[in-house]
Amino acid sequence: MDIYGILAHPAHQSLSPAMHNAGFKALGIDAEFKVFDVPASELEKFMKLMREEKIKGLSVSKPHKEKVEYYLDEVDKYAQEIGAVNFIYERNNKYLGSNVDWIGIKEPIDSLGGFEGKNVVILGAGGAARAAVFTAKKSNAASITILNRTLEHAKTLANEFECEFGKLVNFKGADIIIQATSAGLNDPEGVELIPKEKLNPSMLIFEMIYSPLETRLIRDAREVGAQTITGENMLLHQGYAAFEIWTAQKPPREIMEKAVIERLG
Ligand code: NDP
Repeated sequence: MDIYGILAHPAHQSLSPAMHNAGFKALGIDAEFKVFDVPASELEKFMKLMREEKIKGLSVSKPHKEKVEYYLDEVDKYAQEIGAVNFIYERNNKYLGSNVDWIGIKEPIDSLGGFEGKNVVILGAGGAARAAVFTAKKSNAASITILNRTLEHAKTLANEFECEFGKLVNFKGADIIIQATSAGLNDPEGVELIPKEKLNPSMLIFEMIYSPLETRLIRDAREVGAQTITGENMLLHQGYAAFEIWTAQKPPREIMEKAVIERLG
């Protein structure tokens, strides 16, 4: 049996095991997707175990995305440019690192018109925002502005990708808003990052948080009639891409989506 897993800490809330195990089962693949809850101090030990146990692939999440590359044989251009590895696969006894978070952002937005020629505002300047800036840049957005609570973090990221930056309170408008902060995570009430009066029906709002599925921003966007993409879409689309590279088979998308939605209740 082939072993895959999520490498994170904490990892118990991950939806990846449900998503990938549903996919393996549906296609009759003899594989299991496990949870590897590994604190930062034990990463080196775990990466040795990965080779000994011949683990076939890993999804990588916090706090390992920026550190794991040191234990791999190669890291591709996506992981290098985004500055994080969120996905590992094995080929001929070599372990390769990549990043499929950008696919999780690009595919859902492409299905609603794409980035080309659009003014994009990204809320947040952490790891997930990096993937969003990379995606918007690669997809020929007309402008990209990073807005963040801490101005210095926005400035550092903006300088790296040559885009605009500012404080969250300075939001003026956008065609596409990508919400990549952790504000309101696991909080049913949510946090108002952008006043509802500044949203309008011509906007597309992409939310990364999926717990809760309806964040404050998604609720406000729906109320003003804007288009919305909720957080499970990013998880699913990066998961489909990983599944296809790991197994060389088309992922059973509906079945994987159903498994995730069931877990989210
Ligand atoms: P980081 O810790 O790297 O970055 C967090 C960001 O959120 C920072 O910009 C931080 O601002 C900002 N922030 C945190 N709290 C607040 C607040 N109360 N008000 C305003 N801004 C705040 O996290 P990640 O980039 O890794 O993840 C961000 C979010 O994206 C998380 O909620 C995560 O769950 C989600 N995510 C979802 C994925 C999916 O598949 N759907 C995939 C990856 C991430 P500051 O710089 O000021 O600290």
